[in-house]
Amino acid sequence: MTAPSTSRGPEGQPCVIALDVGGTSMKGALLDREMKPLGRLRRATPRRHGPEAVIAEIVAAVQALNEQAAGYGVSVRRVGVVVPGIVDEVAERAVYSANIGWENLALGSMLQEATGLPVSLGHDVRAGGAAEFRLGAARNARDVLFMPIGTGISAALFCDGRPVRGLGYAGELGHMSVEPGGELCACGARGCLETLASAAAITAAYSARSGRGVDGAAAVAALLTHGDPDAQAVWDRAVDALTTALAAVTTCFAPELIVLGGGLAQADGLLLDPLRARLMERLTFQRRPELVRSELGDEAGCLGAALMAWQAADDTTTGDDPCH
Ligand SMILES: [Zn+2]
Repeated sequence: MTAPSTSRGPEGQPCVIALDVGGTSMKGALLDREMKPLGRLRRATPRRHGPEAVIAEIVAAVQALNEQAAGYGVSVRRVGVVVPGIVDEVAERAVYSANIGWENLALGSMLQEATGLPVSLGHDVRAGGAAEFRLGAARNARDVLFMPIGTGISAALFCDGRPVRGLGYAGELGHMSVEPGGELCACGARGCLETLASAAAITAAYSARSGRGVDGAAAVAALLTHGDPDAQAVWDRAVDALTTALAAVTTCFAPELIVLGGGLAQADGLLLDPLRARLMERLTFQRRPELVRSELGDEAGCLGAALMAWQAADDTTTGDDPCH
């Protein structure tokens, strides 16, 4: 491992750089050991310009946070970067992301080389789930499903307190088939959960059904409260699809807690109440999970990236500290 050029004064407080790379924006922070933010950064993800542009922007964001750290006189111990798609955390490879367009990329070592800092690479949703698990809605649970619903749908599963990874392929709940022969999904299959219940699918379904444009799934949720019958029909279909997927996961993995995150969870009771009721109706003998909203919201991924970086920094310190 190359010696990193850390930014610190002799008595500099240790911190980590955390960066959550999303399809539209990147959220970064400098966090101390108590997970207190010492600095923040937000940038657009230039995904329309291709994966190389996204990688260059990740490097620039890490460098900007490193400069912030130098300005504050704090010492950067490690960088945690989390990205969407299929991520092999052990090999530190970004295996695939339809959204960003990279494939089988040794992203961890690339970022390490470009920034001169020690970098850990993780998956955005598993990192977000780990943050909910340690600091948020799932902190008292061991068997947990964390499912953010936004433009897409993904999930992180924790069984007996441990994340289920499957070389990075586990948790792709958005691509569970809930309507065989249904609409074509971006993944190439038909009738995936994502084609019915993602924020993007709800928005598109409402416009197609009503003939009226609508500004996102939150606007469809707002129309529900005004008794709009098209909004109700679209919402019911999404809730049914989510019920089918969650019932299957509950049957296989018996989570005690399901934490819903992402933009759609902001609909709160409009989503959680009917989903909870239908899931309980659907289950017979299974363990009955509690269904709650994420506590960390869109901070979860960034906090998870920081937890991952601290864990790796501590693991390294017990062996050979890369910072000294
Ligand atoms: Zn799919």
